[in-house]
Amino acid sequence: MLDDMAGSSGVAVVTGAGRPTGIGFAIARALLNDGYRVVISDIDAHSLAQTAELLAQHGPVHAIPCDVTREADVERLVADTVTDHASLDVMVCNAGIGTGLAEVIDLSLEAWQRALDVMATGTFLSARAAARAMVRSGSPGRIVVISSQAGKTGMPLLGAYCAAKFATVGLTQVMAHELGPHGITVNAVCPGTVDTEMLEVDGGLFDVYSQRFGMSKADYRRRVNRTIPLGRFAEPDDIADVVAFLASPAARYITGEAVNVTGGQEMH
Ligand code: NAD
Repeated sequence: MLDDMAGSSGVAVVTGAGRPTGIGFAIARALLNDGYRVVISDIDAHSLAQTAELLAQHGPVHAIPCDVTREADVERLVADTVTDHASLDVMVCNAGIGTGLAEVIDLSLEAWQRALDVMATGTFLSARAAARAMVRSGSPGRIVVISSQAGKTGMPLLGAYCAAKFATVGLTQVMAHELGPHGITVNAVCPGTVDTEMLEVDGGLFDVYSQRFGMSKADYRRRVNRTIPLGRFAEPDDIADVVAFLASPAARYITGEAVNVTGGQEMH
């Protein structure tokens, strides 16, 4: 049981952990360093295998490819984890995409649907499968949902992304109510601006916003930086440390929260 073992040999699953530059990688590494056996998962099986090799130096890691929008994939991810490791103590719903950047009047149904599919439905399927396994085994598990600052405050051009991330905060609160009696906590983490590929790719947030403001990407980065009280973007480890805390016994009395990790950019 998680609380009894203080994380020493619990089992954690992290979705969307297939990129060495991503938040999922940092979360998996933090959990490995805390003594968990970690199952990493991603839609990109090739990158996932390479990431697993990098993580192996930190502890026992196992890779299972999974597209979180596909119910059968997610069910298999959880079933295989339980079969291989005999338990599931922590589920981190991290998979996400940064596409669909447009004003709502120009937003295609396809882009809207994709954002909702990956981040709202994907989180629902992952959290539901984990919750079922935890309830079945009677273990006091932890579910951590990676939402966003954009799950707290609407921002221009992010209609689909914000809608999906707001949905995950609502789902977190509902599941916290429903799973509390089982001793399972459900919390969301809301990162601010984290230096990962998601922001930097062509057509990504920095590209689109810098064009909108008629600035270079570098100038736009400096502009965003000035709005962060702690004066820098987040590193993936800043997010991972909070996830590891929420997964730890020290967080046993915290549930239904949506914790900002934004350097002070978001305060509610
Ligand atoms: P990233 O692009 O590096 O990682 C996202 C991962 O999710 C990728 O490895 C990708 O292959 C995977 N993925 C995409 N679709 C998937 C699917 N259908 N099934 C399974 N995996 C899928 O981005 P990141 O910045 O590490 O993002 C991780 C999470 O943090 C996301 O949920 C994102 O929305 C959230 N977030 C990021 C930031 C930021 O500034 N980077 C800010 C707030 C929240």
